Amino acid sequence: MDLNNYEDLLEKAYEKIPENVKKSSRFETPKVELRIESRNTFITNFNKIISTLNRDRRHFLGIFLKSAGTMGEVRGQQLFLKGQYKEQVLNRLIENYTKTYVLCNICNKPDTQIQREGKKLYLKCTACGAREEIKEK
Ligand SMILES: [Zn+2]
Repeated sequence: MDLNNYEDLLEKAYEKIPENVKKSSRFETPKVELRIESRNTFITNFNKIISTLNRDRRHFLGIFLKSAGTMGEVRGQQLFLKGQYKEQVLNRLIENYTKTYVLCNICNKPDTQIQREGKKLYLKCTACGAREEIKEK
């Protein structure tokens, strides 16, 4: 066997591994795609963000709009925001939401559900079984 060729093969095999691992376990916080129109902002991939986060749309909106400090509404696939916003600012808000309401504190997986008990909210993880109180900021 040609040694160089063998190394090539090994390299190819290694390249394939992270790809598969990535698909099954790696969660990436969604990022906004924006369109600015008449000094207002549209998040054009809003539906995709919601389905990646796998959270209730109203729950997300309530927190997101409050922390952005603006008004907004869903228009079809998009979210309309009153005012002009930078990508980094909105991405940070989504990251904060994801850390608090989506990712498990223990195993960091997104396979969770929000459970309400009286005034308290809990994040129940279906991956590791943890159930932690959500500390709202
Ligand atoms: Zn967990």
